[in-house]
Amino acid sequence: MTLRTRFAPSPTGFLHIGGARTALFCHLHTRRNQGTFILRVEDTDTERSTQAAVDVIVEGLNWLGLTPDEGPYFQSHHTARYLEVVQQMLAAGHAYPCVCSRERLDALREGQRATGDKPRYDGRCRDLNLSVGDQPHVIRFKTPRAGETLWEDQIQGPIRISNGELDDLILVRSDGSPTYNLAVAVDDHDMGITLVIRGEDHISNTPRQIHLFRAMGWEVPEYAHMPLLHGSDGAKLSKRHGAVSVLQFREEGFLPSALNNYLARLGWSHGEQEIFTREELEQRFDVRQLGRSASIFDRAKLLWINGHHIRAATPEQLLPELAFQLARLGIDPPPPPEQLAAILPEFQSRAATLVEMAQKCRFLFIDSVLPYEEKAARKHLTQAARAPLAALAAHLETLPEWTTTAIDTAFQHTLTTFGLSMGQLAQPLRVVLTGSGASPGILETLWMLGREKSLARLKEGDDFLASQNG
Ligand code: GLU
Repeated sequence: MTLRTRFAPSPTGFLHIGGARTALFCHLHTRRNQGTFILRVEDTDTERSTQAAVDVIVEGLNWLGLTPDEGPYFQSHHTARYLEVVQQMLAAGHAYPCVCSRERLDALREGQRATGDKPRYDGRCRDLNLSVGDQPHVIRFKTPRAGETLWEDQIQGPIRISNGELDDLILVRSDGSPTYNLAVAVDDHDMGITLVIRGEDHISNTPRQIHLFRAMGWEVPEYAHMPLLHGSDGAKLSKRHGAVSVLQFREEGFLPSALNNYLARLGWSHGEQEIFTREELEQRFDVRQLGRSASIFDRAKLLWINGHHIRAATPEQLLPELAFQLARLGIDPPPPPEQLAAILPEFQSRAATLVEMAQKCRFLFIDSVLPYEEKAARKHLTQAARAPLAALAAHLETLPEWTTTAIDTAFQHTLTTFGLSMGQLAQPLRVVLTGSGASPGILETLWMLGREKSLARLKEGDDFLASQNG
């Protein structure tokens, strides 16, 4: 039997990292087992579901490289099928119409609360064989009253829930719309899902869905309920813990490979290894190896993993993200990919995020770095630097080629002529070229900037010093 899994988000908000982790685990487990990964949008809640939410979920999955093999399918397109299944259940005596009024149900619940009982439907209409005509009614499932429902969860181990805990689930609301558990069970069957991987907050739905499968005589899929993701304070991860939308992690300069690596390691391990490429995860990850305790989201560790992935990344992996960050800094359209690829090695080893990387290389792509950072200019850009900088500029202009070796000749020559230490020339030069006191090696900085821009900035620096003089 070939494995078929699905990721089934409700489009009521962004794709948060808990959801992304579920999608990642489905995807990785499916890859390793040569199965099919399906995306199903659970948009039966028409009031809260929006197309905008569908779009950001798909965008988030694409960014993470978790594109489905099939889908997206939309539950809102399957209403007729859900209702057809309910007709079959009615005909077979597995479901019944219920005409109990809201007032009666409210009173029932009140009474149960007062006596400390769990609020539940008492089954008054269950065996009445009602013929409802056009009377307002819902359709309920005849939940078996005795026995228990048992499944061997691939993560949690055996789970048993007594059927007496469950009441008669509503399958169709009084407005004729199908309910959530019905839609999930029918789709899981119709889509041939063999393994349901989802958060453990769904464990309470599972016996209900298993009952629906059995009533229809369908084969019950296997289940794997994943432990949830918590914030550092131990509470379920939510907005107040900071970035939780996947696309916000993109904005904050994380690589998708790093986020995947980090999320995969939450609850799963492979020996002592911390850094995994996507290929390694696809070969090694198995949902059955997941631990059972909740995982804590740890931003410092994510940053550390991100640094590793940035250093190991190929230009193909980095360029789209760097261009995205540069655009956010106003460099739009982005510089040509060849130009970006040439400068990458200078910045790759120094940045923990792509935001940092973009900030550090921004000076290369803007027209002017004025005004200079005040502190750096005050410290390094003194009148004593003016003559050496001018001499260096004149020398650079005449170099036969623009290589770091050639640039070094001019640089050393200037040092000797003026009797300067390396820093006495490099620091003022750095301010003039980059606007700040920090950059990659000074020769590399000149080289990356190119002759034309370097000379223009030296001229700007000279004008600046002239204006300061006197
Ligand atoms: N739509 C549900 C959710 O977003 C998932 C249901 C399932 O995986 O069965 O929580």
